[in-house]
Amino acid sequence: MTEGLPDDLEAVIGLEIHVQLSTETKMFCGCSLSFGDPPNTHTCPVCLAHPGVLPVPNRRAIEYAIQIALALGCEVAPRSIFHRKNYFYPDNPKAYQISQYDVPLASAGELANVRIHRAHLEEDAAKMVHIGESGRIQGSSGSLVDFNRAGTPLVEIVTEPDIRSASEAREWGQLLRETVRQLGVSDVNMEEGSLRCDANVSIRPRGSSELGTKTELKNMNSFRFLEKGITAELDRQAGLVASGERVVQETLHFDPGTGALHPLRSKEEAHDYRYLPEPDLVPLAPDSAMLEEARKSLPELPEAKAKRYRDELGIPEAPAELLSVRAELAGFLEAMLAAEPDLEPRVAANWLTGEFAAELRRKGDPDLSEVPVEAAALASLASMAQAKKISHGTAKDLLTRMVDDGIDPVAVVTEEDLGQLSDSSELEAIVEKVVEENPGPAEEVQAGNEKAIGALVGAVMKETGGRADGGEVNRILRQALGLG
Ligand code: ADP
Ligand code: ZN
Ligand code: MG
Repeated sequence: MTEGLPDDLEAVIGLEIHVQLSTETKMFCGCSLSFGDPPNTHTCPVCLAHPGVLPVPNRRAIEYAIQIALALGCEVAPRSIFHRKNYFYPDNPKAYQISQYDVPLASAGELANVRIHRAHLEEDAAKMVHIGESGRIQGSSGSLVDFNRAGTPLVEIVTEPDIRSASEAREWGQLLRETVRQLGVSDVNMEEGSLRCDANVSIRPRGSSELGTKTELKNMNSFRFLEKGITAELDRQAGLVASGERVVQETLHFDPGTGALHPLRSKEEAHDYRYLPEPDLVPLAPDSAMLEEARKSLPELPEAKAKRYRDELGIPEAPAELLSVRAELAGFLEAMLAAEPDLEPRVAANWLTGEFAAELRRKGDPDLSEVPVEAAALASLASMAQAKKISHGTAKDLLTRMVDDGIDPVAVVTEEDLGQLSDSSELEAIVEKVVEENPGPAEEVQAGNEKAIGALVGAVMKETGGRADGGEVNRILRQALGLG
């Protein structure tokens, strides 16, 4: 079900994602990459496009791009071609960008049921800094250019229009980002622009296999805004169709502050890029050793990890997926299982993604390294709960204290005598006492109002200081009340 769209309409979405590679140097020159350094301190004749210079491809960038291609299940072209994409704008000193056109590095991939149309290598443009009346330089207005970013290696990933809702676009985008992050080839930081995402959006009658006219939402700088922007655009398109109008192909900017969509430029005026083969570069022809090296360097990626957690460890779908996209938590899980071989993966995953994650949120989601809880300690806690040595309530209380104060749960259970009442005669005595002291609810339960048992369970729990197992209390209470 697509959010907001009438049932007879279907959303069709394709994403274009630019990933800045975190190489040491730029794509075609030896300048170092930088983020946040003073403007124009990482430049040279090549990335400033002085006459007569020649580009020299960055081997590491090519290796990284191949890793992305393989992680997305793409075919890597044996010989891909660099092209010049011509356009005139101050962010582009050569007046062309070196990119790839009809023979890209990678094609025909797939990630989580979204097909990858292509992925290619290109260089980033310089950064424009627009200054106005309120700009940084008093009394002047206009634009400044910072060439530090010019020539940064980029991989552009283009999906097929296989995404069917705004929330799916967000989730898929997050999966892609995690996948690239775990390759270690990019910072994938959307705020700093090292991962940028455009969304192509159209609607069509549900059941149709034709594509409607699309619009393009440019440069969303978070996946939350991407989802909001697509939702707003789907609403707008559905509104047009409902009033008998047509969607016009155009590029839009979404303002997440106001929720408004503004046209940027219409496709009719779109540039003719006059792509020409780059005469200064030979075809990109990775040899088999290079491909093999890239294949070997791939870590277990989120999609495969989620599958392994489900199929081999029996972890339910939701925690398996969550863990697969949070490498830090997944590492914690593996350390927990190594520390406590008897701990069931399902139980460990539930504690980790449930109560522990909730405690982390309470603390403002710090890095795990800042939390005084070792994987082994969380594993001990989960093991004690699994073996019913402590009640779930006691375990939760202990977890809070572990996160706050770094206590050792095993030691505290002994010191404070928090072990679960495993001696059922002790529990039976408490139940008997509670039933005697609460004749009202007891009679109600016996008269057929089973809900009234809640008050008795609560009283027993209180009496035991939360050390009893809820199921066990229920069972003994029902027995005591003659309910079988
Ligand atoms: P363009 O020539 O306008 O750049 P492409 O065919 O190269 O269009 O596609 C660019 C992106 O738009 C791809 O991600 C593709 O999946 C997506 N796309 C293409 N047609 C549609 C459509 N009708 N609706 C939604 N997305 C589309
Ligand atoms: Zn340079
Ligand atoms: Mg395109």
